[in-house]
Amino acid sequence: MYKIIDGKLIASEMRDKLKKDIAEYKLNSGKDIGLAVVLVGENPASQVYVRNKIKACEEVGIKSYAYYLPAETSQKEVEDLLASLAEDGNVNGILVQLPLPKHINSESALRLIPESKDVDGFSANNIGKLCLNSQSLVACTPYGVMKMLEHERIELCGKNAVVVGRSNIVGKPMAMLLINADATVTVCHSKTKNLKEQCLKADVLVAAIGKAKFITADMVKDGAVVIDVGMNRDENGKLCGDVDFENVKQKCSYITPVPGGVGPMTITMLMYNTYLSAVRR
Ligand code: NDP
Repeated sequence: MYKIIDGKLIASEMRDKLKKDIAEYKLNSGKDIGLAVVLVGENPASQVYVRNKIKACEEVGIKSYAYYLPAETSQKEVEDLLASLAEDGNVNGILVQLPLPKHINSESALRLIPESKDVDGFSANNIGKLCLNSQSLVACTPYGVMKMLEHERIELCGKNAVVVGRSNIVGKPMAMLLINADATVTVCHSKTKNLKEQCLKADVLVAAIGKAKFITADMVKDGAVVIDVGMNRDENGKLCGDVDFENVKQKCSYITPVPGGVGPMTITMLMYNTYLSAVRR
């Protein structure tokens, strides 16, 4: 019998708690918590993400400062804005919606976000601290996955965890978090030989690939916990994950659906990170 991990429910419980904690913080400190969101250009998907983030801020009581810059904004203009937000005492978190237009050097711009305001957890310092297992702001999606596993009381110590995907924003921090939780971790990617064999060893399998229904039932061990980070469109244009959910679920002890799994956790963790950066200030 498998259990579907309800990310929507876990995220909503977390947001309820966060709303209370933020109200208490504001009452005790007399200060607001602020998140600056910077969007350069008119990418429609980015506009939706930014809208959702601003909506989430309203829901939990975080003040949002949105900066909508035209696509032709120069490197210097973006960097000047980030430098001023870095100094702004009302801003606890800075989020730059990626991807930035091609003429902007993202790496050099993002470097201007101080570690303490890097609520996406993408900076070299925060990633380094995650590797050292010391206090850091952790990338929202993998952090959300950890909260889901924790919520379901899934034991990780000594378990074989396999992460398929090695991106800087999902796969690598995910692997690091699982190592820090005492799992034995294998990271797979497009050059991995015998992917199926690797996946079959997983007590916990995290798919962060970006290919619709790529993980099939023959790649999953009986009783595995399967976490699907993927967000893709299937042949009918319907949102789906990296896991062939309908056929894989029968083999699992736990599985996350798409939609309604990891997705709702990501923005919630962004709110949580913004709260954390205010509390730690
Ligand atoms: P990337 O494209 O940056 O990384 C994909 C990874 O998958 C790469 O490491 C790549 O390997 C690996 N990969 C690709 N093809 C194969 C293959 N055939 N076999 C094994 N590994 C393969 O994607 P992201 O990490 O940014 O995102 C992954 C998925 O998660 C996407 O669907 C994205 O939309 C979704 N996502 C969902 C979020 C959420 O909130 N739910 C948040 C962020 C992402 P290599 O490095 O060798 O190229």
